[in-house]
Amino acid sequence: MPMSSVNPANGSVLEVFETWDQVRIDKALATAARAAANWRALPLEERVALLRRAAGLLRERREPLAGRITREMGKLLREARTEIDRCVTVCDYYADHAATFLGDEPMEVAWGRALRVHQPLGTILGVMPWNFPFWQVFRFAAPTLLAGNTVLLKHASNVPRCALAIEEVFRDAGLPDGVFQSLMVPASAVAGILADPRVYGVSLTGSEKAGRAVAAAAGEALKPSVLELGGSDPFIVLEDADLDRAVEQALVSRFQNAGQSCIAAKRFILLPQVADAFLERLRAGVEALVPGDPAREETTLAPMAREDLRDELHAQVEQSIAAGAVAVTGCRPLPGKGAWYAPSILDRVTPQARAYHEELFGPVATVIRAQDEADAVRIANETRFGLGGSVWTRDLERGEAVARHLVCGNAFVNALVKSDPALPFGGVKDSGYGRELGRDGMLAFVNLKTLRLG
Ligand code: NAP
Repeated sequence: MPMSSVNPANGSVLEVFETWDQVRIDKALATAARAAANWRALPLEERVALLRRAAGLLRERREPLAGRITREMGKLLREARTEIDRCVTVCDYYADHAATFLGDEPMEVAWGRALRVHQPLGTILGVMPWNFPFWQVFRFAAPTLLAGNTVLLKHASNVPRCALAIEEVFRDAGLPDGVFQSLMVPASAVAGILADPRVYGVSLTGSEKAGRAVAAAAGEALKPSVLELGGSDPFIVLEDADLDRAVEQALVSRFQNAGQSCIAAKRFILLPQVADAFLERLRAGVEALVPGDPAREETTLAPMAREDLRDELHAQVEQSIAAGAVAVTGCRPLPGKGAWYAPSILDRVTPQARAYHEELFGPVATVIRAQDEADAVRIANETRFGLGGSVWTRDLERGEAVARHLVCGNAFVNALVKSDPALPFGGVKDSGYGRELGRDGMLAFVNLKTLRLG
């Protein structure tokens, strides 16, 4: 099956790629294995210098790369620029901290000397999604490469042009042949690649379904895995919240990237004292969003990335309305070519609705009305997911107490959940396991070796 790059704003085909056969995959595995031996032997400062050069190329190529992202997956051009900037930041962060994170650490022992030593594992496979086609790859690749591993990227099938542009950045920065390679392969090739003895681990960012398949394959092959999966983050508004700020951030969190972010606020859980006022302001903000050409400055809502994803979202919305949810605004595809969906709000969502339990990966806000704070926390945790969550209140102590009760990997008070290179990022329950970013992200694919001397 060839892989097509399609502009989701208008459905036009940009380019078609042949997928690789087994011979080509084998060649890439052999190249990666050969490169691994030299790459790990390179002094850390040299790997750091090469990563800084890659960051420099990202800076230089910001405009063309952002344009490529926008054309291939649809996000607003200004959001694509920000995505490139974040990739620069993550490269700089790990370049600055690699020596500290990877340095030997003496351990207290009763006799002799003992050290914690961090060594690379070998070639690591990254299976990545399309929604942040550069950021997801760089947050995995920057620390994994600096730790001395080589990387194989199996990117999502709808962003092959981004995959190739990333490979080009690393190649042009001077990374030796085979240290970073983009594989033009479908999802069905992943288990076979992971089973190959030249591959030592896998990091997947994607859906729960892909997570189960990749975790099973990693288990079968006895290789470590990091899984960053879906989320249905709660956004709890307590009665003393600053509503202007909460609504402003709610709009950004739910509708940026056309709602296609794992850590977008997806369930707005409102206390009775503020529910109507919050909803009215949210509605005004949602109805003011302007869908249109994602490259234009005036546009504030992008298309979704693929028409099949838009259709699946609409099926979830229709079932939720049939189950009693109220369509406040939108809740329908937009006419014309491309993967357009109206910015939408569903109110009075109950456990009978798919929107209550499932991740809505598009521009639809789910509103759930809670009786009081304890009920809000109960609803927030009544989900298979556990990625992020936020609570909005003027009382910081109360906010912290609620945040501590959220069963998730990233709980924020009066701030929208977002990742930062310095903060460990990941989920619990069906949102996955393991952590990216921070020191934890760098240690995900190292052999923590105990070295005892004497
Ligand atoms: P997806 O369909 O799961 O695809 C993600 C990657 O997994 C793609 O490269 C895909 O390849 C591959 N894949 C799919 N099924 C597979 C299988 N059975 N075996 C091996 N690989 C498989 O997810 P998506 O639609 O691209 O992304 C949306 C999902 O990712 C959402 O659920 C979102 O919440 C989640 N996400 C999570 C995070 C996080 O940090 N936790 C960040 C971003 C997104 P193909 O494209 O070839 O199918």
